[in-house]
Parts: sequence; structure tokens; C-alpha cells
Amino acid sequence: MRALVLRSPLAGWSTPLEEVPDPVFAGRMLGDGVAIDPLGSTLYAPCEGEVVLLPETRHAITLRTAQGLEVLLHLGVDTVGLGGEGFEALVSLGQRVGTGDALIRFDLDLLARRARSVLTPVLVVGGGGTLTRRVQSCAVTVGEVLLEWAPRSAAADGPSGRAAAGEAHRRTVRVALEHGIHARPAARLAAAIAGFRAEVSLHAAGRQANARSAVALMTLGVRSGGQVEIRAAGPDAAVAIEAIEAVLSAAEPATASSVSSAAPTPAPALPPRVQPESVGSGAVLRGVVASRGFAVGRAAVLRVREVALREAGAGTDHETRELDRAQALVRAALEQARSGAAGPAAEVIEAHLGLLADPHLQVQALDWIARGKSAGYAWRAAIRASVEALCALDDPRMAERADDLIDLERQVLVALGGEQAPPVSALPSGAILIAQQLLPSQLVSLDAERLAGICLAAGGATSHVSILAAAAGIPALVALGPTVVEIAEDTTLILDAEAGELLIDPDERRVEAARARMSRNAQRRARERQAAQRECRTADGTRIDVLANLGSLADAEAAMRNGAEGCGLLRTEFLFLERRQAPSEAEQHDEYQRIARALAGKPLTIRTLDIGGDKPIDYLPLPEEENPALGLRGVRTSLWREDLLDEQLRAVLTVQPTGQCRILLPMITDVAELRTVRAHIIEASRRVGRTAPIELGVMIETPASALIADVLAREADFFSIGTNDLTQYTLAMDRGHPQLAARLDALHPAVLSLIARTAEAAHRHGRGVAVCGGLASDPVAAPILIGLGVHELSCAPAAIPSVKALIGELTLEQCKRWAREALEQESAEAVRALSAAPAGKTGEPASAGARAPSLGEI
Ligand code: PEP
Ligand code: MG
Repeated sequence: MRALVLRSPLAGWSTPLEEVPDPVFAGRMLGDGVAIDPLGSTLYAPCEGEVVLLPETRHAITLRTAQGLEVLLHLGVDTVGLGGEGFEALVSLGQRVGTGDALIRFDLDLLARRARSVLTPVLVVGGGGTLTRRVQSCAVTVGEVLLEWAPRSAAADGPSGRAAAGEAHRRTVRVALEHGIHARPAARLAAAIAGFRAEVSLHAAGRQANARSAVALMTLGVRSGGQVEIRAAGPDAAVAIEAIEAVLSAAEPATASSVSSAAPTPAPALPPRVQPESVGSGAVLRGVVASRGFAVGRAAVLRVREVALREAGAGTDHETRELDRAQALVRAALEQARSGAAGPAAEVIEAHLGLLADPHLQVQALDWIARGKSAGYAWRAAIRASVEALCALDDPRMAERADDLIDLERQVLVALGGEQAPPVSALPSGAILIAQQLLPSQLVSLDAERLAGICLAAGGATSHVSILAAAAGIPALVALGPTVVEIAEDTTLILDAEAGELLIDPDERRVEAARARMSRNAQRRARERQAAQRECRTADGTRIDVLANLGSLADAEAAMRNGAEGCGLLRTEFLFLERRQAPSEAEQHDEYQRIARALAGKPLTIRTLDIGGDKPIDYLPLPEEENPALGLRGVRTSLWREDLLDEQLRAVLTVQPTGQCRILLPMITDVAELRTVRAHIIEASRRVGRTAPIELGVMIETPASALIADVLAREADFFSIGTNDLTQYTLAMDRGHPQLAARLDALHPAVLSLIARTAEAAHRHGRGVAVCGGLASDPVAAPILIGLGVHELSCAPAAIPSVKALIGELTLEQCKRWAREALEQESAEAVRALSAAPAGKTGEPASAGARAPSLGEI
């Protein structure tokens, strides 16, 4: 087959296809090429050929060349909707045209006003070859060379050294992602190559997926440790492969929700149990705890019928237009909801927006439409095929993502004007919602005030609906099995989402006991909320500061509502994640300033960038490391990239009012690191014209720093103990290791003795000592930490009211006794057992209600 040269059919600006605001073109689903932002109003033939497609609407034209290739010219985006208005065909179907012949005259002003975009894709469709030259990101005139195409063999041999541009590249990699290619990494993979021109696909176990489609990538079903082959062809194929490999071989960064206090870690799945056949009086169903809590209420059964739709289409153009319209409506609604959402709700919306734009779903839907089906039928068929593929993977995480797809299906079908599902918002007060499945959009449309609990036949603890329920504080059980939906409307239920049980129509005595428990819980929460805004002191008046760990402005706002007395740790790395490039100095400053303002003058401890280890950043590749947890992490990375450190310091030093912020350094192991950063601070202060000093603290999160705490305390202004890393490095157990998770307990006496040593050194030198690791939010640990000499706890925002309430019931003397006893124990379990011991038995706090409440009670 001969090569083909395409000449520009328009004068204008040649633009990469990715910039076309339509996933079908941007994702190269129809073919490869460029898009032109036109200046003229006549479309000319880019090559010789026969007109094989010229719709009535005259907004596009396809030529078939002598090579048998098809060249599609599409004037603007969404222009089919103009119904032919503004377009005049100058040729007719079947006509042969020569290069440079005028094809269509069009009204550019009308297009500019009425079309989604005037960008005009010029595409080579099919043919099995590849583009070997592409003139883009520059002005073009009619008739100048725009694209060169060559059949695959010719491209591989390549005239004039251009072959490499179209060469196919392959690389096999092992997937290091902790949970394989599930929803988030799939979205990150698609994003990683968004700016590339190469065609990239992933292949595994005989299946293949377009790397630009998160849905297709998920359906590959690749798990951690599995192998995939990356194939890429196109000018930047080699770099595209690198980008994909970087995502596949990196450990997964924490998600906002995994670090957010709003979404507590779901309880582990309960062992399967044979469910009773009936749901009669006194029956108990067991499920998986998705959101902890306890409730008594009446069953409100949600039965959702499928949205009815017609199968036959009313013409390809009409149905394509309809689907576009419905998707645009859903997109607009989601975007509007996103602007007012935060935390998990915002994440769900983001996920839905991503799925709505997924090229795989679009192609499949358009394919059904081309086969004569209606838009609704096509959309449902595309979604259901992906749902089926995800469910067939036998991976609960993937099956949970199927809920998001079904949700999106329903939203688009409703927008198409199909029959509306029964309303789900009319709930009686105190309702326990029973459903086969609940979709995120349904949950957010419910009146949370009336919802006492949720019980689902299906679902998983990490599904989006579970995360939303946990964030809203609604107790929820999932995976209760199909019998749950047989419960009669209005039946009395006791939902124990601590023990994972649903009691159906219990006797009066149990209802009474449950109501008493609820009222105790409510009273306790009310007390805690009241206490939360007060200054925190022990029962005998010792001041303990309870601050919050933050990752964002939304966290800061939540923390303030929960009574935070400032921020003890701002994990600034979360500003750097999920982006293509580092935030600028100005962006950083603005974000820190917003957080400072949200804290209303209370202290803001800004930790310098702590990346590396389990928090990699794609656009900041670190040198290849055998063991990243022991490599360039925390302050080491900052001293390796001093440019980033200096920018960050300047951004912090300019936050107003001067004196609200202090700086905290992660992963310190010797005093020289502290001195070097102090020198940078002095220089940065000079640059921004700041004369006031700023407090500089170090994190004690390596055994080395705890052991030299005396030396560090001479020069550091304060200490903050990072028990997460201190435990990992003391016990030599990876903090992300699933098999070791149960043993990775910061109450291990070895860790406690390093904390004790740190606190003693801090006191000797008159320095403050805080704990900002996860241990600070653990009610069992709080009294022990206080007893060891810690005077500041920086907790997850949601834990603040209960931690403050607990501290208010303790005396310092009790805490000290408790701490002494903890240091003498032989294991973390033994330390934990102290808190469960009845008062007096261990000589432990008697007046404080005897013991620290267990997590379940708090
Ligand atoms: C810690 O290690 O305890 C800590 C607070 O830092 P991070 O969890 O962000 O590593
Ligand atoms: Mg740490």
C-alpha cells in the first residue's frame, strides 16, 4: 500500500486532537489526525478521493482514497445538532474530487455561536498503518502538508528517519499497585497519557484495553503482582510507555478519603454465616459493617424498578444527539454538585464525571446506536457489558465499582426522559432503609435527618455508598443477603452496626434495651460535642492541647467544627498529589493562607513536603531505589530538591498573621538536617522580607531521632512524634504490609519507651512535645501518652470530640500510673489489655470511670 499525504483543508491553527472537547475525537476512537481551528469558511479536499459519506446535515464529509483509506473531515463539535443550518455542500455523494477542491462552504460565525467547538478534526480512519508526520501546534494555510500516513511496514522502515515516530513499542511490567488496576489507578493511567499522541494499549491474560479508558483498564482484572504488556505506537510511544510504567510500578498514593477522618476505616468483613431462611419476628441477619453505629427504627423498603426504555432507534443522528444531550445534562448536574461538595461526596462525583467521559463506554454506546438502537438502549448496553465484565472478575473491589456504573446508567436514562425511578426521598422519620443495592446518587438524594440506618442485601464495605454513609454518620450494614429485602415495610428493627447484626421485629424488652443504649450514646455524643468547643483540660486541670491533622481546607473546616485547637500537622504533600505538576509558590501560599484563615488564628503547623516511601508523586520521579521506605523520604527529598524546599518555605513564611504558622520537618535523623533547613529558612525570610522568626520543629519518627532527642532538643523549637513511622521503623514492619497490619501496633512497649525518652528530653530543654501519628486518636493510648509527658495530641478531626471528652475524665496522676504500667508490659496486646481491666485490678484509674472506653464505645 502506498503512503498518503494529506494537505490542510482549512487555513487556521492546527491543534492536537486531545484538545477537541469530545472524547470520541480526543480519544482517537474514530481515527488519528489533528484538529484545525478554522479561519476561513470553505473546506477543501486534503487529497484525492471519492465522497463516500455526506450526511444530510452537511457538517462532515468522508473521502475514500485510492489506498482504500477513509479521511474524515468533521466541521466543529456537536454540529450535527445544527441540522444542516450554516452548511452548503459543494460536492455530492459518490463524486470524485481532487486535492484542493472545495467541498463544503460553512458559516463560521454561526458555528462559533452555536457549536460546542469550531475545532475541525481531520482524521485518517482505519487502514492499519500509522501517521508518520503530523504538523500541529502551529498556523497552517490551505494546501500545505498537514499529515503523512504510511502502511505499517513502510512506517517501520521509515523514509527520512521518521520511522521511529510510528514504531510500535512493547514492554512487559509487573504491577506493584497494592490492589491491582482498580478504579483509581485506572483513572491515573488514563490521565498519565492524556497529553501523549501515541496509541497505547494494555494486554493481560489474552485481553486488551485502550489505556485511555479507565473502564476498559479495570475490566482487565489485573491484580497486584500480575504482569501486563504495554504496547504503544506513535511519535511519543516510548515516553508514553514510561508514563504508564511509572504508574503501574509505583505504590499507590493515599487517597483523600483514606486519610480523611470523615471516612473511618471500614470494619473487616465478618466470617460468612448461614443466614436464616425467614425474616420473621426475632430473626437475626448478619452483614458486613460499612459504617459503624447503632440504631432502632422502622423498615423502609426501597424497591427500584428499572427505567423503561425503547429498544429501536430513530436514526443514528437523532440518537447520537439525544445521548449527547442527556450526557451533557448529567455532566452539568454533576459539575454543579461538585462545586458544593467536599470529602467523600466530592470524590464520588469526580469518579462519576470520569466514567461519563470514558472513551470505552462512548465507543460501545455509539456502536449500538450505529446498529439501530435507541440512545437509552445503547447506553444501558454499554454500561451493562462493563458491569458484567467487572463482576466476572471475582474481585469485590471491582464489583463495588459496578455500582457506580449502574448509578451513572440510571442518571443518563433519567436525563433521556425515560421513566423516572420511584422517588426515594419520601422517608418516614427514623427509617432504616432496606434495599438490594443503593446507589450513591440515591443516598445523597435522601433526607439524612430521617435516615436512622441502612441495610443492603449486596454491596461492600469500601463501596462509595458505604464511604458516604460513614461520612454522614449513618450506621450501615452491607452484604446482608437477599432475604433482607423480604422484610415487611414498617417492621421494627435493631441495627447493630458495631456487631454486624440486624434484629428483625425484636420483642419489647430488647427494643427497650436498645432504646436505652441509643439514648446513652446520644447523650454521650451530645456531651462530647459540648465539650469539644471548650479548652481541653484533664479532670485535675492540666492543660492538654487537642489539635487536628489536616490534608486540606475541607479538613480544616471540619476540624474547627469538632473543636480543634489548631492544626498539629498539615500534610502538605496532599496538595501535591493527583496533579500533573507541583503547585506554584503562589498556589501553595494561597492554600496555606486559606487554611490559616479557617483556623481563625489558632496555630497552624505546616510540615514540609513528605514525599517518597509510600507517598510517591508521579511528576517528581525519585531515583530508582531498592527500598524506598529507607531512601529519599521527607526532609531528605527536600534537601535533594532544594528548589522545591525554598519555594515551600517562602510560601509558608508569607502567611499572615506572622506567628500563626510553625514549620515541622519530617524524617529527621540528625541535627545537621535541622541546621541546613534553618539556613534555608533564614535565606528565604530575607528574600520575602520577613524579620520575625518562625518556630521550627522536628518530627520524631525514626528511632535515631528519638535516641538523639537530647541533642535535637537543643536546637529544635518543638517535637512532634510521628507514631506511624516510628512504629514502622522501630518494629521493622512496613506500615502498608497487609499480613503484618495486626501486629503493627504503636502501643508496643519499644515504641512507648522511645516516646518516653523523647518527652523527657523535651522537658529537660523546655520544649513542647506533641504526638501527631495515629496513636493520638486512639482512646486507649491518649491517657498513656499524657502520662508519658505529651502535652499536645494532634488527631483526626472526627476523633477530636471523643478524645477531648475522654481527657476531661482523667487525672494526670492516673495517666502517669497508667503510663508506668504500660512501659512494663511485654507486648502491645498486654498494654491494650490494661485499658480493659476492671478498675482497681491493675491499680488503674478509679475515679475516671475506671478505664478508657474501647473504640466501639467511643
Ligand atoms: C507519622 O509517621 O506518624 C506521621 C504523622 O506522618 P505520616 O503518617 O504522614 O507519615
Ligand atoms: Mg511519617
